[in-house]
Amino acid sequence: MSDFSLALSEDQLQLQKWVHDFAEDVIRPAAAEWDQREETPWPILEQAAEVGLYGWEFMAEIMRGDPTGLSTPIALEELFWGDAGIGLAIMGSGLAAAGIAAAATPDQLFEWVPQCYGTADDIKLGAFCASEPDAGSDVSAIRTRAVYDEASDEWVLNGTKTWITNGGIADIHVVVATVEPELRSRGHASFVVPPGTAGLSMGQKFHKHGIRASHTAEVVLDDVRVPGRCLLGGKEKLDERLARVREGKPGNSQAAMQTFEATRPAVAAQAIGVARAAYEYSLQYAKERVQFGKPIIQNQSIAFMLADMATEIDAARMMVWRAAWLGKQKQYKNAEGSMAKLKAGRVAVWATERAMQILGGAGYVTDHPVERWHRDAKIYDIFEGTEQIQQLVISRAISGLRIE
Ligand SMILES: Cc1cc2nc3c(=O)[nH]c(=O)nc-3n(C[C@H](O)[C@H](O)[C@H](O)COP(=O)(O)OP(=O)(O)OC[C@H]3O[C@@H](n4cnc5c(N)ncnc54)[C@H](O)[C@@H]3O)c2cc1C
Repeated sequence: MSDFSLALSEDQLQLQKWVHDFAEDVIRPAAAEWDQREETPWPILEQAAEVGLYGWEFMAEIMRGDPTGLSTPIALEELFWGDAGIGLAIMGSGLAAAGIAAAATPDQLFEWVPQCYGTADDIKLGAFCASEPDAGSDVSAIRTRAVYDEASDEWVLNGTKTWITNGGIADIHVVVATVEPELRSRGHASFVVPPGTAGLSMGQKFHKHGIRASHTAEVVLDDVRVPGRCLLGGKEKLDERLARVREGKPGNSQAAMQTFEATRPAVAAQAIGVARAAYEYSLQYAKERVQFGKPIIQNQSIAFMLADMATEIDAARMMVWRAAWLGKQKQYKNAEGSMAKLKAGRVAVWATERAMQILGGAGYVTDHPVERWHRDAKIYDIFEGTEQIQQLVISRAISGLRIE
């Protein structure tokens, strides 16, 4: 293990500046418009792809090419500092790519992940479809069914997915389905639904409180037939796994926890980007806004709010960096990834609310971005595991008990 250091490398400092500049020059000026339009910001995706910020190569570089694990949270904090809705429009395909990477053979990885992004001239999207109307936090309740048709070597998928980022407008949908419902989550498998497959359609498109530049919709699977090679990991591996589970052998839950924990710092870093945006904006505002003959920051009650915001954001970031580093070394012990996500989500909601307070009426109207950041922040208590699910994971990890 190397000596302890929080110093970022030259490459990481460059990455941070590069993403920040894009967020400041391209994303920020467009944020209010796409929040109002509630549509995928295609022109921004195109610009991101042109500079190399939207694409599988970028994801591979920040995820795989970095031994410290810090490049991903550093890049995402800057991107989401620009705007969380547009940030998610850029990063949403990464959910599908991560779903593929978690289960695919190397051949499948190279076939499908690039198709989640396309090229700068021909942008594609990916969607990761796990949640269902009756299976949100309780993923084991997934009802979407996958049945193998031996005669044609095809899988037939039926079910309805909900709240899916890029759902129905993506080219690649990664679908989690149950192969053996009685085995609950241990009977699940993931499938790639290739572009243009018959039977997959978009259901309701949702209108959201925040992150409105990111498309969220239902995905309906009606007798969707995909070739056998679309089962991630392959049939042999699935059959072996199911046979082990049927014999009552324990699943590899430690490995699963490491995988889930590893994605949480990335989401937490997004929340920190939103919190920092609100903090910086309200700090500046407090220095400029004069009431009772002096800038409002010269009142301790305002200055102390900002002091608390700075402290909480830094504390959350430290937890995210620790979690990212531990995740990279596969050294999670007490669900540090969940701790980071829990803390960062709460800090984002709290800090954006405090920023509104500092701006007063200006914080409540759309002339300033703070009300939007407050709307955006709330999602971090909800998706990728709610606040309570993070608490559940942490309490089980620290106690070693089955807390319900
Ligand atoms: C904008 C957006 C984008 C999303 N994108 C995707 C996506 O791309 N792909 C995807 O698959 N899903 C996606 N989701 C779904 C998201 O992951 C779920 O909303 C989330 O997991 C929570 O599930 P739920 O909404 O059904 O809430 P529920 O599970 O119904 O929870 C409701 C409340 O009950 C609490 N609760 C539930 N179980 C327990 C328990 N055991 N103990 C204590 N409290 C509990 C929860 O914390 C919450 O407060 C997205 C959601 C949103 C809103």
